[in-house]
Amino acid sequence: MKIRNGFVSNSSSSSFICEVSGVSESGWDASRRDLGFVVCVNGHTFLEKYTIDISDRELFEAKKAALLKKFLINEKALEDKSYTEEMHKWRENYIAHIREKYSIVEQIHYGDGDFEDTLDEYYNDVFDELEVPENQCPLCMFTEVNPETFFKFYLKENNLTKSDVALMLKERFKTWENFRNYMASNE
Ligand SMILES: [Zn+2]
Repeated sequence: MKIRNGFVSNSSSSSFICEVSGVSESGWDASRRDLGFVVCVNGHTFLEKYTIDISDRELFEAKKAALLKKFLINEKALEDKSYTEEMHKWRENYIAHIREKYSIVEQIHYGDGDFEDTLDEYYNDVFDELEVPENQCPLCMFTEVNPETFFKFYLKENNLTKSDVALMLKERFKTWENFRNYMASNE
């Protein structure tokens, strides 16, 4: 999360960076929505105008899938931890609760009217109401790529570390100016 807090009186300055365009917006006591940002279920932050348009039905299916996946992740997280005797009962109850919600969501279909509201309610409960599903996010759908994603991919594909790249640049260009000139040229 790209928030920076200041210490001027009771106000705080928030700043967010769009991972698609690199544009940053900041404001006093501003939420990301105030500044025009949305976040996807995988944590990508971008300006609302980059949200991919999808049909109501696709949105419904995407929310349902994201919710079911999240329930499974939450259940798994509870199983993976070790608990004291007292906590054990709590865990069992909580797992039962998650499973119940899972089976409710599983049975909701597009066009089910009021039940769709229930799905929305669960979705906003589990995710932030601003979080959009994967198929509305240009970074999840790879219609855009952020530099960080590209760099990590480049390193893995070429079996390199960040230090390897630094060394390559140092050996080839010696100075930043040489590198900048190369980048600006048509070579
Ligand atoms: Zn995303």
